[in-house]
Amino acid sequence: MIATFSEPQQKLRQDVNKIAQGRVAPRAAAIDATDEYPYDLRQLFAELGYYSLLVPREYGGQGGDITSACIINEEIAKASASCAQMTYSAMHACCMLLFGNDEQRSRLYPAIASGEKILGLSATEPNVGSDISGIETTAILSGDHYIMNGTKTFASGVGFWNGWFTLAKTDPAKGVRGLSIFVVETNNPGVRLGRDDRLGLRGGGGGEVILDNAIIPKANLIGKEGEARRILGEYLPLARIGHAAVALGIAEGALDCAINYVKSRYQLERLITELEDVQQVLAEMVIRAETAHSILYQVTAAADRDNKDPGLHKHGSIARYYCGEAAMGNTTDAMQLLGSDGYSQDFPVERMMRDAKAYQILEGTQQIQRLIIARNVLRG
Ligand SMILES: Cc1cc2nc3c(=O)[nH]c(=O)nc-3n(C[C@H](O)[C@H](O)[C@H](O)COP(=O)(O)OP(=O)(O)OC[C@H]3O[C@@H](n4cnc5c(N)ncnc54)[C@H](O)[C@@H]3O)c2cc1C
Repeated sequence: MIATFSEPQQKLRQDVNKIAQGRVAPRAAAIDATDEYPYDLRQLFAELGYYSLLVPREYGGQGGDITSACIINEEIAKASASCAQMTYSAMHACCMLLFGNDEQRSRLYPAIASGEKILGLSATEPNVGSDISGIETTAILSGDHYIMNGTKTFASGVGFWNGWFTLAKTDPAKGVRGLSIFVVETNNPGVRLGRDDRLGLRGGGGGEVILDNAIIPKANLIGKEGEARRILGEYLPLARIGHAAVALGIAEGALDCAINYVKSRYQLERLITELEDVQQVLAEMVIRAETAHSILYQVTAAADRDNKDPGLHKHGSIARYYCGEAAMGNTTDAMQLLGSDGYSQDFPVERMMRDAKAYQILEGTQQIQRLIIARNVLRG
């Protein structure tokens, strides 16, 4: 890779790589197979400061940069994308809290930094995915709390995380201008959860957040009522960068597996690395990984200079799109190079391929990323 990192960032990469390969990789297959959440790794990541990295210093964090947060996501994802969901989530919560008030930051940042609270995002509903203007969940103010009703689906972390930044309509008559964001926690009265069974990212949790006359403190409203679109407009480019880093890690992990495999696989008494077809496929995989890496870290550098840079709208989507393609492309090619071994659960490639698909769908499908990119250039 062409180095674009500071010395502390390079050191961080080496340190996280050791943890990922030494502590996470040996567990990855079992986490996937059993769909069991790795509480011990959650705790380990807390001790290593992965959740506190982006938390501002005044709230007990490290006040770190987005590039470093993405390095963590990428390195952990090389070993297990499910585990990278945890580090990604801390990044996402920190970015979302940029829009919170002092009380919310004082209350939530220290718990995020210590790993006590992992907060996801809950937007998707049975009838609503790409177009959030159709959200049906409602939040009606009643004294010092909101009464929330609706069902959220596909929320990552369900079963294990502590809450979600949740989208609900405070004024259904106003369409998307009546949409607001709340912190909904699992211990709020009226919140129930339902696990789903997903193809990939297993062991990370996921499912429904059911809001049945849920009582959500007024203090949990992020920003003002009706501000969800504005907040998401600024927040989502940062979230996409974090997802892109996980996707990049999957693409690189698959490349590593393929290289190791072909270097020891003989057919007709010669190593398959001698076959030009194999070299061609490997070269394509390297090009994808290197291109994804360059795109991502140019965008993280821009975000570290100014996390409200309007260019991040287009470039965050380009990073998410391209890294998602690289993850899917590299895992598919890796499986081809491994042949039947790639298709078997004795090798990690089939897990990586199932995980990769998520990064062409979640928080905006590839089609939606392309729409964002096109609309940005057409606006001029
Ligand atoms: C592993 C995983 C984790 C997830 N985690 C979360 C989470 O933590 N929180 C959460 O809220 N959601 C989560 N999701 C849900 C995800 O964000 C949605 O699935 C995604 O936004 C797409 O919505 P949808 O599935 O309803 O598809 P739809 O919006 O119904 O789209 C169906 C198809 O139509 C296409 N399409 C839709 N609109 C357009 C358009 N305008 N132009 C072109 N094509 C279009 C889409 O690209 C797609 O191919 C997760 C999903 C997965 C797979």
